[in-house]
This record gives sequence, structure tokens and C-alpha cells, in this order.
Amino acid sequence: MDKASVINTCRGTSGGCRFALHVDEDFAERLEKVIEESGWPEFLHQKFGEKVNRHKLVNVSAASCPNGCSRPHIADIGLIRACVPVIDHEGCIGCEECIRNCPDEAMEMVDGKVVITREKCLVCGYCTNVCPTEVISCSRSGWRFLVGGRLGRHPRLGMELPGVYSDDEVLELISRCMKLWMDNYVDGKRFGWVMDRVGHDKILLES
Ligand code: SF4
Ligand code: SF4
Ligand code: SF4
Repeated sequence: MDKASVINTCRGTSGGCRFALHVDEDFAERLEKVIEESGWPEFLHQKFGEKVNRHKLVNVSAASCPNGCSRPHIADIGLIRACVPVIDHEGCIGCEECIRNCPDEAMEMVDGKVVITREKCLVCGYCTNVCPTEVISCSRSGWRFLVGGRLGRHPRLGMELPGVYSDDEVLELISRCMKLWMDNYVDGKRFGWVMDRVGHDKILLES
């Protein structure tokens, strides 16, 4: 049977970019495997026969930072690597390297202390690389999870689920997504269209 998914990853997922957060080597393979095991390939095969048009496949895109070179915002399922930064103020020498380098102007010095504005922070983790005393670390590492992005006649960006998810949690969410898509499938419509009607909260609540 032909492939049932298109998995795109940015070059940073294999470590080739200065902005990249670490991604396990076998992560893309695990993504493909969870889709294979969801019953999606057999579902497509039964509906459309042996030769399934590429547009029918589920596309998953993973990027190692919010720059999103693999275009996770317009994939059926988009993943953006994330590190939620936390500062150990005891060891901070006040050099302001983090403030100067934050791509989103999410850091500032307030009364001699570096403060992160959470509403602006895209959890890219870049500040953890530039701190000379290594006092910025990730309080949580994982993935942001976007659902239902698409191009075409009615393009739109994927909707982001709240939170940051571990590799295993991402695989579990993808398995739920595939089940929801198959259960509510409408020919010619992408996953995002289906989820707009089913409700994105179902991805988190269904077991
Ligand atoms: S998405 Fe980020 S980590 Fe990946 S290649 Fe682009 S800039 Fe580098
Ligand atoms: S994680 Fe990224 S956006 Fe957030 S404070 Fe650090 S450098 Fe800025
Ligand atoms: S880069 Fe590190 S040491 Fe310098 S101000 Fe930021 S947290 Fe403090």
C-alpha cells in the first residue's frame, strides 16, 4: 500500500540550525508509525482504492523553532518545538544578553531582575542558548500542537491547542486526531474543516 501521510520536518530537527531545539532522531519515524497504526492507510485504501491522490493524505509538519520553515501553520497537524524558559535569578549577572537576543522582545529588566512577558514569549528557547552563565533553562520541553491549517480556496492557519506536549503526548494526540477525522470524514474536506464542525476540544477530551 502507498504512503498515507506526508511528514515534513525542518532541517533544524536534525540539528542543522542555530535556532533549533533538540528533537529525537527517530521522531519523524514515530510520527509516520502512529499514523500507520491508526487505521488511516486502510481507511483511505477502502475509500479510494490502491492509488490514493496525494491531496487525500494527512500532512504533518514539524519545526524545531517558531520560525516554522517546514510550514507547520498550514499543515493538517503542525508541531513546533518548544521550551518554556525559567530564570534562576540567583546566578544572573545582569548582562542583558538574553534581552538583546530575544526575537520577540519578551524580556526586560525590571528593578534589576530579568522578567519574561509570557504573552509575548513564543517559547523558542533561544534565550537558554545565549545566557553566558546558563541560568536560563526549560521548565518544560516539548511541542506546540496546531490543528487544521490549510491552503487552497479557503486558506487558514492551524488552531493551537493550549499547552506544550511531550513526544509521547503528541503521538497520542495524533492518534486521536486520526480517529476523529475517520469518524467524521467528509470527502473533499480537509481535517481543519472537519474539526471546525466537530470541535477542537474533542481532541483533548476523547480517549
Ligand atoms: S524552523 Fe527554526 S530550527 Fe527549523 S530550520 Fe527554520 S529557523 Fe531553523
Ligand atoms: S523563549 Fe524565546 S521568545 Fe521566550 S523569552 Fe526566550 S528567547 Fe524570548
Ligand atoms: S543572559 Fe543570563 S546572566 Fe545575562 S541577564 Fe540574561 S539571565 Fe542574566
